[in-house]
Amino acid sequence: MLVSAAEMLKKAKEGKYAVGQFNINNLEWTKAVLETAQENNSPVILGVSEGAGKYMGGYATVVGMVNGMIKELNITVPVALHLDHGSYEHAFKVIEAGFSSVMFDGSHYGIEENIEKTKEIVKIAHEKGLSVEAEVGSIGGEEDGVIGSGEIADPDECKRIADLGIDFLAAGIGNIHGKYPENWKGLSFDTLEKIQKLTGEMPLVLHGGTGIPIEMIQEAIRFGVSKINVNTECQLTFTAATRKYFEEDKDLTGKGFDPRKVLAPGYQAIKDTVKEKMEMFGSINKA
Ligand SMILES: [Zn+2]
Repeated sequence: MLVSAAEMLKKAKEGKYAVGQFNINNLEWTKAVLETAQENNSPVILGVSEGAGKYMGGYATVVGMVNGMIKELNITVPVALHLDHGSYEHAFKVIEAGFSSVMFDGSHYGIEENIEKTKEIVKIAHEKGLSVEAEVGSIGGEEDGVIGSGEIADPDECKRIADLGIDFLAAGIGNIHGKYPENWKGLSFDTLEKIQKLTGEMPLVLHGGTGIPIEMIQEAIRFGVSKINVNTECQLTFTAATRKYFEEDKDLTGKGFDPRKVLAPGYQAIKDTVKEKMEMFGSINKA
């Protein structure tokens, strides 16, 4: 059964570890993440972006697939199905479709409008038992071909959003989506500390988990980060393993053209990456 992410992140914050959000793209991705979580007795959050939701055939399809796998694969660890960077309209769509968690990304609005919309979503989502993530200060990275540097959130604005009754908060602290540039300045622990002091118990979320050095990840967890989003890294390892399959002409050997064989190395690569992250975040055996 799907659960909201509120409880698992509260426990993570208390236990000083982080739960990984792994974004899914298809059936293989979903199965790889769920099985790895179960094998390692770790709670897990499946992230679905609006684009991936559309790609997979709509939110109801995703809900059906995930619920089906939880049942058929005997997944007993806590699993949350979460909309990643949801717009106002799509937040309501996933509440309707049966997701168990939703991120409303109002960071591109002014703070007052972000507050108003977040409040509205918190009310509806909580009535239906979903957890809510809100964002202050946009996370940089490549969006529509423009690479922005990581924005630093205003701690006072973080406090205002945290007080709206949300369950966890994403704040820009110099992190960016996708690969980090050579000249990246690193995470702003100074900002993170200020946010943490003002928001107290609130679990904080670190977006753009790909390629942040392990010491910085663990430092961030010490400063109150309880959820870390991983997306690009699984894409990179999946694609590298798939490329290797073709480069070695495995598709031309025997029944190597079978799509289940073609996707097997990529599937294993996702599993390996997810396990590595769970070890790094400290969520193994915390289910
Ligand atoms: Zn993000």
